[in-house]
Amino acid sequence: MSVQLGMPQPRPEGGPGAGSPAPLPAGRPAGIPAGLVDRYGRRATDMRLSLTDKCNLRCTYCMPAEGLQWLAKQAVMTAEEIVRIVRIGVEQLGVRELRLTGGEPLVRADLLDIISAIRTAHLDLPISMTTNAVGLDKKAAGLKAAGLTRINVSLDSLHEETFTQLTRRPFLDRVLAGVDAAWAAGLGPVKLNAVLMRGINDAESPSLLAWALGRGYELRFIEQMPLDADHGWTRRNMITAAEIRELLSVDYVLSADPRERDGAPAERFEVRARIPGTGEAAGPVLGTVGIIASVTEPFCADCRRTRITAEGKIMSCLFSREEVDLLGLLRAGASDEQLVERWQDAMWLKPKAHGMDHVGLDAPDFVQPDRSMSAIGG
Ligand code: SAM
Ligand code: SF4
Repeated sequence: MSVQLGMPQPRPEGGPGAGSPAPLPAGRPAGIPAGLVDRYGRRATDMRLSLTDKCNLRCTYCMPAEGLQWLAKQAVMTAEEIVRIVRIGVEQLGVRELRLTGGEPLVRADLLDIISAIRTAHLDLPISMTTNAVGLDKKAAGLKAAGLTRINVSLDSLHEETFTQLTRRPFLDRVLAGVDAAWAAGLGPVKLNAVLMRGINDAESPSLLAWALGRGYELRFIEQMPLDADHGWTRRNMITAAEIRELLSVDYVLSADPRERDGAPAERFEVRARIPGTGEAAGPVLGTVGIIASVTEPFCADCRRTRITAEGKIMSCLFSREEVDLLGLLRAGASDEQLVERWQDAMWLKPKAHGMDHVGLDAPDFVQPDRSMSAIGG
């Protein structure tokens, strides 16, 4: 069976992935404000940390059917290394929020230990986790007790066949049980992430929203990004935010949520039922829906994210072609100060924007990043 590489190839010696303590050619001037600031004045306070590159699903927009070549165990950050990196982020670099992700974070055997160690060190830190929820029904209460604040679950369809087609695994029942268990365990507000694929689950979007509203879950639709390992993404084929609003408007009237967006990737809308055959809303606000329009309505100017991959590389942007090795430096015996410097240098070079919004239809010059979403940590 052939496997594809989800990882970029090793960088040339001395490059940003080399792991030596030598300073990067960042050009970060002395005297700039503390924290994770970049050349364009943004400050990263939201840390996305990937616990593993492994996953038990094979979502078509993320992984190839045969899986990826997983990282060797020793290449992945240990619990202690994760706790140290989080501590440096929080205590020295102004990180205010932590999201654990993957791959699938639930497959990590020491997940509870990691969460409880982070919680013990940072009593007030919001810690959320993005998960496919397979196995969450048995783990939700333990995650809450360990100190997890909240959960985001990926759920693209409520139809068994469609779910299986999209994830290549027949696990819809297990996912639904996981979502309910997360709610019951107090891991709310539960947010659901759905990626719409043309001709597969796009028509299901209003009923998915109805289901989420009925249970008090906050559904967010995510535009499909060119981060699939199969490199099958085309701009023409993706469902845009404008299309999503149109699909939902058959049954609902959406109006801008008056709350501040505050750097959130999702644009939120209040949802009311539509009086059939009219543009009028009927009745009260039923809840909210979010749309994450990373491709067609990007929010790069207000991006507050810093990303750490499972093997401890700093990525300043999902679409970065530059990665900076933090774990190699840590394992070489670096002090906290050296790690702080490297992290700041990496974030200083954060690109102004990912540029996808300027790419024309099926533009031949668009270069998809080497890593797939699961290998970055979405
Ligand atoms: N395995 C977990 C999950 O699926 O929730 C966490 C990791 S997954 C990479 C994080 C999020 O990225 C999921 O909500 C998933 O739907 C989203 N995602 C993956 N590939 C994507 C793509 N090509 N475009 C947009 N979102 C994507
Ligand atoms: Fe796994 Fe999440 Fe990627 Fe689906 S989106 S294959 S669940 S990492």
